[in-house]
Amino acid sequence: MSVDDSPSATERRSAIQKRHEQAANEVLPEHRALYIGGEWVQSASGQTFETRDPTTGDALASVQAGMATDIDRAVDAAWNAYDSVYSDYSTAERQAMLSEIADRVEAKSEAFAKLESLDNGKPITEARIDISLVVDHFRYFAGVARAHEGETVETDDSRVVQTHKEPYGVVGQIIPWNFPLLMAAWKLGPALAAGNTVVIKPAEETPLSILKLMEEVGDVVPDGVVNVVTGFGEDAGAPLASHKEIRKVAFTGSTAIGSEVMKNAAEHITDITLELGGKSPLVVFPDADLEQAVQTTITAIFFNTGECCCAGSRLFVHEDIQDEFLSRLADAAADLELNDPLLDSTDLGPKVTEEQVENTMSYIETARESDATFLTGGDQPDDPALADGCFVTPTLIDEIDHNNEAVQEEIFGPVQEVFTWSDYDEMMEMANNVDYGLAAGVLTESIDNANRAARDIEAGNIWVNTYNDFPAGQPFGGYKQSGIGRETAQEAVEHYTQTKTVNFSLS
Ligand code: ADP
Repeated sequence: MSVDDSPSATERRSAIQKRHEQAANEVLPEHRALYIGGEWVQSASGQTFETRDPTTGDALASVQAGMATDIDRAVDAAWNAYDSVYSDYSTAERQAMLSEIADRVEAKSEAFAKLESLDNGKPITEARIDISLVVDHFRYFAGVARAHEGETVETDDSRVVQTHKEPYGVVGQIIPWNFPLLMAAWKLGPALAAGNTVVIKPAEETPLSILKLMEEVGDVVPDGVVNVVTGFGEDAGAPLASHKEIRKVAFTGSTAIGSEVMKNAAEHITDITLELGGKSPLVVFPDADLEQAVQTTITAIFFNTGECCCAGSRLFVHEDIQDEFLSRLADAAADLELNDPLLDSTDLGPKVTEEQVENTMSYIETARESDATFLTGGDQPDDPALADGCFVTPTLIDEIDHNNEAVQEEIFGPVQEVFTWSDYDEMMEMANNVDYGLAAGVLTESIDNANRAARDIEAGNIWVNTYNDFPAGQPFGGYKQSGIGRETAQEAVEHYTQTKTVNFSLS
């Protein structure tokens, strides 16, 4: 990274500024209000907060700070819509609605990608992947809406027993900031397919793409079927999770807050789906294709600037290939381009907020204090053109104790810890020795190694010779403290229904 504060750095810095102003003018949503009952409304308190562009540090937009009374209004509107309109929607109508949402997002996909990149800081090339997945997930759940069936249960000649999969009515959804629109699609798709109406709370760091979604699809979705309340976690998220009239809560975020949500939901015995943190192992066998394995490792940890709950943040490399693999990996990581996320050439953008930078840097400091070795990174870039942004360099840490808190806890940044192994059982014990169990990767040319490791790793998602691949239809969710329930698949629709059993006596 250049340390030279030359005119060209100044020029690049102002080019970034200009590019972001122009993009914001093009793609910001027109409405920054709450969306309740099909109308854009102010919060009851009238309070607002700013969402910032993490690349330039500038305010992007001011949005409403919704609170408990706004959640009450939204829940009422959602029940009204459920009782008066949506509970009568046929599965064909739900399918058509979800398909049209997909079409409308697809028609504006570049604008959505730019907005996501502005608000979150993710590289535009990755934001485009997010939006294509948003479109595909809405289409997938449009299909699932029609393939959703109850059962007839065989007992004996004296009765007929049937089950019906009924919607809950109104569900609450709490969205994180790392994949704002994609996480919304993962939740809205199955909830709407199953016949529920929704109150959704975007993350306070990244509310804009969900507001834009409602601008684009407000006339596709009947009034009150989807309600959006922007606001802070404690003010708007907690009242949503503990609301008596919410019949199911789906949350994606940190394990600490997931536990809070679970406690709040417990108050009224509300069903929950939780997709929480991770500290996922990536295991490299000595027979792996080295070049492919290096590239997959880069994707595993640096995709979305490491702000990925399933990031492969603990690397286990076999000692036979350790020297060559780590040297190639460190070179590839150091070569990644840290730059304006709106540029196609950028590999890593800024972290979402200054607070998140501090969080990541404090883990890096903890590792440094323990005398770990940094193979690359471990700091913020000194390129003056990036001085306004929340950047952290891609970081690889070797020779660190597996019990160190930087290893045990989720960093949620571009930081991977490296371990060398020779004995499979010892390695596997270490790989499983964290509180999390969201995902894992296995890199090998041997089908036996792949199967054995996939079976032994305690995690909900195992990628073999790939990583961070999220096709619709593939269930996603965690073991242990990484969560409860599965998303992105038919099973997700099950989570948005309750089973009613009807027993007919035959005379
Ligand atoms: P992070 O720590 O990565 O910011 P969080 O788990 O805090 O992630 O946030 C994820 C989502 O949960 C956000 O929409 C946030 O507003 C919301 N949230 C935060 N605190 C609470 C809470 N106590 N109850 C419900 N939702 C919350």
